[in-house]
Amino acid sequence: MRAQPKASHFIGGEYVDDTAGAAFESIYSATGEVIAKLHSATPAIIERAVEAARAAQIQWAQLSGAERGRVLRRAADIMRQKNRELSELETLDTGKPLQETLVADAASGADCLEYFGCMAADIGGSQMDLGASANGSFFYTRREPLGVCAGIGAWNYPVQIASWKAAPALACGNAMIFKPSETTPLTALKLAEILMEAGAPAGLFNVVQGMGDVGAALSSHAGIAKVSVTGSVPTGVKVMSGAAETLKKVTLELGGKSPLIVFSDADITNAVSAAMLGNFYSTGQICSNGTRVFVHRDVLDAFLVEVSRRAAKITLGDPLDEATQMGPLVSGTQYDKVLAYMEQGKAEGARLVTGGEAAHVRALPHGYFVQPTVFADVTDEMTIAREEIFGPVMCVLTFDDEAEVLERANATQFGLAAGVFTRDIARAHRVIAGLKAGTCWINTYNLTPVEMPFGGSKRSGIGRENSRAALEHYSELKSVYVEMGDVDSPY
Ligand code: NAD
Repeated sequence: MRAQPKASHFIGGEYVDDTAGAAFESIYSATGEVIAKLHSATPAIIERAVEAARAAQIQWAQLSGAERGRVLRRAADIMRQKNRELSELETLDTGKPLQETLVADAASGADCLEYFGCMAADIGGSQMDLGASANGSFFYTRREPLGVCAGIGAWNYPVQIASWKAAPALACGNAMIFKPSETTPLTALKLAEILMEAGAPAGLFNVVQGMGDVGAALSSHAGIAKVSVTGSVPTGVKVMSGAAETLKKVTLELGGKSPLIVFSDADITNAVSAAMLGNFYSTGQICSNGTRVFVHRDVLDAFLVEVSRRAAKITLGDPLDEATQMGPLVSGTQYDKVLAYMEQGKAEGARLVTGGEAAHVRALPHGYFVQPTVFADVTDEMTIAREEIFGPVMCVLTFDDEAEVLERANATQFGLAAGVFTRDIARAHRVIAGLKAGTCWINTYNLTPVEMPFGGSKRSGIGRENSRAALEHYSELKSVYVEMGDVDSPY
């Protein structure tokens, strides 16, 4: 097995295993080859991780922010040095093409470690005088860590998700136990190795493997102060209810069915580029994808001609070949699900513009490849317009005016992301202000620099990742009133 780790879990600064845990495999979805065999965490492994994290957190929180930041910045440098190795492993674990993983996965993780590493020295409270009427008393606030935090990852951006959760958590003085998706268990272990190499104390960042039951055990564990999950809405609901038992803080990064609105005055070439990136990058397996593309009736034909011409040229193939633009879906389960949605789209009367079937890559007959697919004449009621597909399926809907498209774009339980293409700046800002979504773009799509808050509204989530905003979700304020005079008491 070409990607077998030394052991399943990383706890207290070392690889550990407990073969009593249920066995599971990681496969390379381009070939079906088993690349690693692991064991799910037993209750004993989870307890060991909580203990290790608790001990490390006490020591870590005593360091100055500058000292903590230095470790995170060193980890960012090591991650960049190892980018190719990490990208190849991520490609094997996810099936995403190396062309993408080389620039979007560990690279984004490194940016995040660096950003929060730079910020760590500046995490603190404030002070305020209360005036002569209060005897010159004042109060100050301290921004304090929460303790041990749990991170639970999805399979589409494994090392990026692990880094996006670990970096702000550690910058604030917390320790973390991270559970990767059982589909993509490998690269979080590398992040643990890198943090150790960068000087993090043993136990500061631990990885435990397993399915939903391990995530549920972390969510309800009394020794864990906060849980952040990236996953589907039903999982987010379960994590939040598990966390309620101990009133844990939660960050939920969940699914979406985001609108991308193309007005008639838009630059159509750019709008098509964005719609393709927002539906086909990572084989469509991105939570914030603009999967409902609303195109103004006047430019619909031009849009569809351009999109189908360019979709037909997308190169599917071996993800390890840097010329490959689109890889297979992550797993057989995801493959069956996406093909079923394509059939449902056809059955419900959407017009197939291109794709719509499994794709056959000659050298990789067992790969889970599907064709980049575009449906036109999609209506708001169709299943493919309402449910998250998580595959390369673009749904094009037609609209006539601004008020109508705004209402239709918002008619969903989700609210993760949204985009607008127009040359009319007043309209761009007006429409964005009206869209109920946490992360929005004007005249581009899906760019997520670490400086920008990322997250959803409505059922797409709670809290924000990246940016200064993330620090608030991994720390809490302590208020301290300092009396400068006598205690004024009627007793
Ligand atoms: P999923 O919900 O099936 O699993 C996510 C993680 O939660 C996995 O690690 C899984 O083992 C764990 N889990 C499952 N049941 C659990 C439970 N009861 N308690 C605790 N943990 C549990 O999601 P997935 O299939 O891995 O990923 C795809 C989904 O993730 C999509 O809906 C996608 O939109 C979403 N996603 C969101 C973002 C975001 O930032 N908003 C990013 C990537 C993916």
